[in-house]
Order: sequence, then C-alpha cells, then structure tokens
Amino acid sequence: MHSKIWLSSPHMGGNERKFVNEAFDTNWVAPLGPHVNGLEKDIARFLLAENENNIHVAALSSGTAAIHLGLILLDVKPGDEVICQSMTFSASANPIAYQGATPVFIDSESDTWNMSPEFLEKAIKDRVAKGKKPKAIIPVHLYGMPAKMNEIMAIANQYEIPVLEDAAEALGSHINGKKCGTYGVISVLSFNGNKIITTSGGGAMVAHQPELAEKARFLSTQARDAAPHYQHSHIGYNYRMSNICAGIGRGQMEVLQERVSQRRANFEWYNKALADIDAIQFLKDPEGYYSNHWLTTALIKHPAITREMLRLALDKVNIESRPLWKPMHCQPVFKDAPFYGDGTAENLFKDGLCLPSGSNLTDEERDRILKEIKTVFS
Ligand SMILES: *Cc1c(COP(=O)(O)O)cnc(C)c1O
Repeated sequence: MHSKIWLSSPHMGGNERKFVNEAFDTNWVAPLGPHVNGLEKDIARFLLAENENNIHVAALSSGTAAIHLGLILLDVKPGDEVICQSMTFSASANPIAYQGATPVFIDSESDTWNMSPEFLEKAIKDRVAKGKKPKAIIPVHLYGMPAKMNEIMAIANQYEIPVLEDAAEALGSHINGKKCGTYGVISVLSFNGNKIITTSGGGAMVAHQPELAEKARFLSTQARDAAPHYQHSHIGYNYRMSNICAGIGRGQMEVLQERVSQRRANFEWYNKALADIDAIQFLKDPEGYYSNHWLTTALIKHPAITREMLRLALDKVNIESRPLWKPMHCQPVFKDAPFYGDGTAENLFKDGLCLPSGSNLTDEERDRILKEIKTVFS
C-alpha cells in the first residue's frame, strides 16, 4: 500500500524549532511570553495595509476561542440572535450556542460559495420585523475564497450590525488588496494543524480598536483585576496561547507567503491536469478576488459518477479527500434554527469535494492523485 496522501498536513519552514528551543532555553513555558507578543506583532504586520495603522491582535488557544470571545465582546447574550453563514465548519456557529444565543443561518451564493448578501438582507429585514435585531453577522471565507465582503459590509453598515469575520481559512487572501482578517469589527484566525499555517493548535482575534484586543487578552487569562490577590469582576476564560505554540507560529509566519504560493500552485495544477474532464468544475477567483486556495475544491457534475464515488475510489488507494462542509441548517444539532436561502449550499454539499491540497505535496503524490481521478472518469 502506498503511503497516505493527506488533505492538508502541517508543513514546517525550518525556524520553528529555533523559536521553540529559545522558549525552553529562557524557560518561557507558559501561556504568555515573548513569542506570544512577537507572534501578535508578526500577524499585525502581515495584515497591515499601507493605508492602515491600526491592527491589534490577541493570540489565543484556538480559532473557536477567538469566535467565543468575539461574541462576548460584541455583547451577545442569552436569547439574542446572531446571523451566521450556514455552509461552514461547526466552530463558526457553536460559540453562538455557548452564549445561549440562537444562530440564524444564511445560504451561500454561487460565485464564492459563501454568505449570500441577498439572503443576508432578507434575513435582517425579517428578523427586525419579527421584533429582534440580530446582534452580529458571521461571514466565513471558505477554503480561502473571500466572501462578498464589500456587499456584506454595506448591508451590515446600513443596518448597524457588527461583523465578526471568520477568516480561519483565509490568512493570505484578499479582495483588491484588502486582506481577509481586516474586514470585521472583530476578525478571527485559526492555526489548527490542517490550516495554511499552524501552531499545532491556536488562533487569534484581530481588531482595529486596541481596546478590543486588550479585553480579549484580559478575558483569555481568567479576567484578573489589577490587585495583588486574585480579584475578579468578570467571568474569565483560559484561552491564551502558549509561548511554545507561539514559537511555532513565529517560524510559520516567516513562510506564510510561500505557503500561499504553493497552495495556489496546487489549484493551478489541478485546473490544468484535469482540464479535459468537463465533469470536474473548479471554483475560480472572481475578478479582484485572491484566494489563498487553502484547499482546492471542485464540483463533480457527472450523470453517473457522484462525488462520493470519487471520494471512495481515492480512499481505497489511501488518498484523503473530503465532502464540502455540510450546511449548519442541515445538522441535527441546529435543526430548529431559522434559515434563509434557496438550496445553494445543499447542492454544493451534494456535489462538492475537497482534494488533497497540502503545500508539501510531492510530484509523485500529484501523479498518484491524477492517475486515480483519470481512472475513475475513464
Ligand atoms: C478551523 C476553523 C475554525 C476553528 O478554528 P480552531 O482553531 O480549530 O478552533 C473556525 N471556523 C472555520 C471556518 C474553520 O475552518
């Protein structure tokens, strides 16, 4: 049996060990320390555009923790409603439930597969008419493809609802130069093991207002008031990033741009190599959009071959692929949540497959993938 080809696996740059050793040598083995501060600065520097000077980052234990703290900072309370993209990973929506609030799910549109601005506005109007204005909007940039942020931000601004941007999959993506991770009042990044760069596990909250990042750091370290004893006036959390993980992150930030190029090269390769199979349709960057192509995704539109048949054929020869995210409004745990849409996300889930997309894919692995896909469609 051939060795396993993963959907997306960690890809170290080389200097991660140097940073981690430094943490050991100086005994900064704790959920704080110089690498945590350094990683926050590295991320801020990366996200900063020429016309921006106000990006503030709090390094946290996960992207999920960052979304949870973001909702707390946006004052989401029990009984509130929060609008969320339906097609996404459950971690975009679970923190809404942690707060005792109700998610209101929005369908995808077909240009980016992300939140439909049209259904977003319909939902806001309807929720307001029913007497409840949503407290926040969570768009997601799936597989690195930016959501229609110009349209979504215009609607959010018109109705004065803050945007919590889930950019967990989209570090390095942008629309006309404006980077994902800088659109929301609060934005969220993830450094889980399968993301474009990783700290093994970790995440970050990004904000334009320094007070928001400061409050996230405070809440993530058990909300200790300034006092010699342990004094608390808020409920705290243990959500800070460890200095060891941050060391890995500092090494990974050095190679982020290279990882984006490698993921985009995978996407280009799949497009070229499979150009003669009409049944495999790739999602291309719309004009002005720049996806990091964290994962290469395709729709399988064939009368006889389903995406599941392709997935199983690949699995049989030890190649990992995965269906697109199953929409949240179709998940048993969220079956009672309101939903606004027309079936777009469900159709994407039915036909969509994520192909192996690691930045460390070898030519030999590419050959194996291509051979198997061609066999299925021959
Ligand atoms: C990975 C991911 C998260 C959660 O991040 P973790 O660091 O794994 O907690 C949230 N949203 C999306 C869309 C993700 O892909």
